[in-house]
This record gives sequence, C-alpha cells and structure tokens, in this order.
Amino acid sequence: MRHLIYETNFLLEHVKEEGSETIESYERHGGYTALRKALKDMTPAEVTAEVKESNLRGRGGAGFPAGVKWGFLSRDTGKPIYLCVNADESEPGTFKDRVFLELAPHMLLEGSIITSYAIDAHVAYIYIRGEFTRQAQMLEKAIADARKKDYIGKNILGSGFDLEIYVHRGAGAYICGEETGLIESLEGKRGFPRLKPPYPANIGVFDAPTIVNNVETLANVPHIINNGAEWYKGIGAEKSTGTRVFGVSGHVKRPGIYELPMGTPLRELIDTYCGGVRSGYALKAVVPGGSSVPVLRADEIDSVNLDFESCAAAGTMLGSAGVIVMDDSVCMVDTSLNLAKFYAHESCGQCTPCREGCWWMAGILKRLEEGNGRVEDCDLLLDICDNMLFKTICPLGDAAAMPIESYVKKFRKEFEQHVTQGGCPIKKDKSIKVPENA
Ligand code: SF4
Repeated sequence: MRHLIYETNFLLEHVKEEGSETIESYERHGGYTALRKALKDMTPAEVTAEVKESNLRGRGGAGFPAGVKWGFLSRDTGKPIYLCVNADESEPGTFKDRVFLELAPHMLLEGSIITSYAIDAHVAYIYIRGEFTRQAQMLEKAIADARKKDYIGKNILGSGFDLEIYVHRGAGAYICGEETGLIESLEGKRGFPRLKPPYPANIGVFDAPTIVNNVETLANVPHIINNGAEWYKGIGAEKSTGTRVFGVSGHVKRPGIYELPMGTPLRELIDTYCGGVRSGYALKAVVPGGSSVPVLRADEIDSVNLDFESCAAAGTMLGSAGVIVMDDSVCMVDTSLNLAKFYAHESCGQCTPCREGCWWMAGILKRLEEGNGRVEDCDLLLDICDNMLFKTICPLGDAAAMPIESYVKKFRKEFEQHVTQGGCPIKKDKSIKVPENA
C-alpha cells in the first residue's frame, strides 16, 4: 500500500522508501534509539511522565490520553501486568494501522517495548485482525529480527528488562476491536465485551492489570521519547497534539493515506490534499472518523478541523480518522442500510437493544430503499436509536445508532422521498450518474 501514501510527517516519513519494513531501514532512520534512551537514561516513571506531558491521545477512536491510562494501572495486585496492542483494525473506512503493520512494524514494536518498560509489563500481545494474514507474518518476522538485535527477550540491551511479544490472530470479529472483547478473545473465549468497570487497567487479561493501546498510539511513543513532550506538543492543535494518519476513501480524486497535523481543516484535506471531489459531482457528505461516527453534511464541514475538540463541537467525532467522502450520487438510505447490516452482523448479541435494534434498523431501511417504506419510518428509526444509545454493555450499540440517527436527522427529506416516491429518488433521477454497482 506504499503507493497510497500521499502525505507524510514524522511517523511515516521513512515508509515511502522501499524496504521500510526491514529492521535495517528502520535503524538507518534512527529506529530503536528511543528504546536505548528509555532503557539507559530514563526510569519507567519518567517515560510515563513524558508521554503524559505530551498529551498523546489514543488513536483507536476514544482519544483518551495514553499516559493517563497507564497511570490507572493497579500495581499492587501481585499479578503480572500485560500490554495488549490493539491491531484489530476492522472499522469500515479505516485503514491507517495497516500502514504501520505493513510498512513500519518496527516502529510499533519499539513503541510497544518502551510502553511495556514504562508500565512494567514483561509480556505483550499484539492482537491482530484475523484477515491480516500477511501482516501477521510480517510482524512475526519483525519480532524475530528485533530479538536477534537484543531488543526483545531477556535482559534487553543489558538493561535487566525482560520482554516477550506474541502475535495473536483474531478470527474475523469486529467486536474484538473493543478492548474487553479483545481481552476475552485473547483468553480463548468468545469475544463478548465485559461490563465496565472494572476497567482493563485494574482487571484485564487473565484477570491481571492490562493496558490496551492502539497501533498508531504506540507508534508515536518512540518519537516522543526521542524528541520530548514539548516538541510533540508543538505539532497539531492545543488539546489534540501530534499528527494523525488519515485514511481517506470515497469520492475524492486521490483517496489514500495522509499524515497531517491534528487540527488541519477538513476542507483542506478534501480539496487541497485529496484533489477535491471527482469531476462532475458535488460533495454531499463526509464521515470524518470511521463508520461509527455521525455524518456531516457538505454545508457543515467548512468550520471543522480534524482534531478531537473541533469534531466534537460539530456534533461528530474524529474516531479512527477514517475519512469517507460521499458525492451527490450517493443515496443516504442505502448508505444507512449498508451500515445497519454491518453492525447487525457484528453485534455479539449480549444486549437486547443492540442485538434487536441493529436488525430492526436494517429491516426498516431495507423496506425504505426498496420502495416499501412507511410515513412513520423516520420517527421509528429515531426511536430505535434512542432506545439503543448509551444503553448497552459496549460502544457497538452506540456505534450503530449514532450514525444512523445522524443520517435520518440530516437527510430526512431524502428518507421521506423514498416513501413518497416509492423508492430511491437518486437512482430514479437519470440526470445523476449513479455508478453501476450503487
Ligand atoms: Fe454485544 Fe452489541 Fe452489547 Fe456490545 S452493545 S456487548 S456488541 S450486544
């Protein structure tokens, strides 16, 4: 996927080079110097303090500060502490962790080793999406190469610190990207998310304190250790520091990977970096952070910057930074149906609102799209969303309801036209060039 990388900053600057995934290339670009610095010159508490000061926020979706999370660990349980790397990237529209897994696996490993040192973990698991077969093999090779260089194993670089890293492959369930579903799956059970609290930092994998961090989050750690928290805070927005790796898909001229400072205007990403919407079409909607976040209409995006705060102020979320751009050939009912079917398929079934609500939404959206909708369907969809939101064990229920609610509210007229016109007005309008597979 190297050819899809258009814009780089400190995280991805070396990955455009052929062979960036090798340990030789990574070391040539300064790789593993942060690990040496952390082990030789810093205590674990100093590493944690530096990361906390940098305000590195989780890149998996929630945006919780990584250093603060590490500080929540229960350290007096007498049990080992574990690091779990969440590489279960499966959110529709999201493909940024894959860049690190394929093209910079040693950056992830170095970040994982430094983090393990900071939290006093001696075993780390990389839980990788089951479909990422090749990436899992690449990680295994990277771990073997790092071990030969004394970066993994016993007494790393003579520091007295021991660490083993294991790759654990998932089996294709989106829900295992939720941290407690991941933990259950890692333990060999069904990926049923757990009620929180207790949080994994207190009771995690094998009932021991556990930190679960996303791939991109950990890839930032070596750079913070090498350059310092002040340097890191100088990049991005005031409360959303650093860069973000945006995976842009949909109807732009140059879909791909863009590493940009947090706070970059959404309009600039679409028009300047991605070349704008494809010729002959107009921008209709943008999803800024993966399929789980509320959609923005074209007329809402001008004031939105790509940071946690600005997205929240606009009523959406930066999420996984999977930016999905839709032009005016896209039917919002069809899009909602596609989403609802995905979440219905991926719901683990533990909670009634999620298990039933996802299927109900999919059924209603299907009849709307097929021209058999009822006048009351918009309100019925909103009522179902209301009965799902914040009433489930894990955030999948919200991830399904939030976007659908936003599509109905923001494009209600289009939904109602599906009833009054007996089907999709866009597909019926011959002047709109709908792609053949729409
Ligand atoms: Fe399972 Fe959905 Fe409940 Fe999450 S919200 S635990 S996916 S049923």
